[in-house]
Amino acid sequence: MRAKVILKEKATSKIIKGFLWVYSNEIEKVDGDFSPGDIVDLYDQNRSFIGRGYFNPLSKIAIRILTRRDEEINRNFFKNAIVKAWEYRKRVVNGSSCRVVFSEADFLPGLIVDKFGEVLVIQTLTLGMERFKETIADVLSEVLQPMGIYERNDATVREVEGLPKIKGFLRGKAQTLLEIEENGLRILVDVENGQKTGYFLDQRENRKALEGLVDEAEVLDVFCYTASFALHAIRFGAKRVVAVDSSASALELAKNNAELNGFSNRVELIEENAFDTLRRFQKEGRKFDVVIIDPPSFAKSQKSLEGAIRGYKEINLRAMKLIRDGGFLITCSCSHHITPELFKEIISSASSDANRILKLIEFRHQAKDHPVLLPHPETLYLKCGIYQVLKKP
Ligand code: SAH
Repeated sequence: MRAKVILKEKATSKIIKGFLWVYSNEIEKVDGDFSPGDIVDLYDQNRSFIGRGYFNPLSKIAIRILTRRDEEINRNFFKNAIVKAWEYRKRVVNGSSCRVVFSEADFLPGLIVDKFGEVLVIQTLTLGMERFKETIADVLSEVLQPMGIYERNDATVREVEGLPKIKGFLRGKAQTLLEIEENGLRILVDVENGQKTGYFLDQRENRKALEGLVDEAEVLDVFCYTASFALHAIRFGAKRVVAVDSSASALELAKNNAELNGFSNRVELIEENAFDTLRRFQKEGRKFDVVIIDPPSFAKSQKSLEGAIRGYKEINLRAMKLIRDGGFLITCSCSHHITPELFKEIISSASSDANRILKLIEFRHQAKDHPVLLPHPETLYLKCGIYQVLKKP
């Protein structure tokens, strides 16, 4: 028998609207036995069934909902959900690499599946999802028929769930250094040692948004990882790009990417703390027509928000000072704790301190294969503001 979890009132109303998490302090009572990771049934105050999900009492997010119907969570359940997720990607993504499953946004909390050509990279980030890993791998093999399924379960968040960090092929075998195509560019993806699943697919459409802004430009790509924004800038007409990252292995791939596309003589790579680079460039009087900033998440939790705001403000302020009058700033934040409104405020406040006037040209989010589930606001995480930066007259 599944345990029955009776929720407090405030959790119930959010869940009825479509939110997928129950926090540990929103549980009124648990009837029946369960082990961490088990499927449980959720009931409101009137003892009406409202959903079914998995329970990990170790986590602050105690329950994540999988269905609102009285249906078994089995191979068939996962097959239906994965087929729907894949059908959607086939409609909105042009190309052979994309995110196939985006966790809550595909009603599969804790599951990430990225497709890099013939290889799938999977993450089961919660104990509840980990239990179904083999079933999910079977379904993915059947539906997408990949050459291999690589498990990148070395993310730190797994520790919160009491899970070990592991990586390796779950199904099949293939190269782990892959070449994909994005917006006409050749890009190397290291699914074994790259960051997250190996590559940031969520920025694909934002990289394309450089088109029309970088003709003949001198561009600075800060937090460049494997230099994907930088390569796009060259492809869209930039004269020269300087790309900065603190990771030597990311820059090694960046160098190979530049070569692969025949751009080596126009890309300069710098291995340095980006805060130092921006400070140094300001001192040296360096100027650029376009600056791209795509830092890692500075706000991993609500607690680190204050420090994160200062960090975002500092790098944006420094970037603005390097931009020639009328040039462009493409600035990103991937922390869902920084709302779009807050991000715009940070940029605006940085611009007044930098003594610049900004025009907002476009405000973008993550690519279409990372959709936002409106009743679950945490699925909206990426902000990408494109601003024209003007000197005060
Ligand atoms: N723009 C990239 C993704 C950037 S992810 C793309 O389009 O693919 C963030 C990057 O910031 C990572 O590559 C990480 O190595 C780098 N990073 C983190 N802290 C840094 C710091 N203090 N200085 C420079 N780079 C840093």
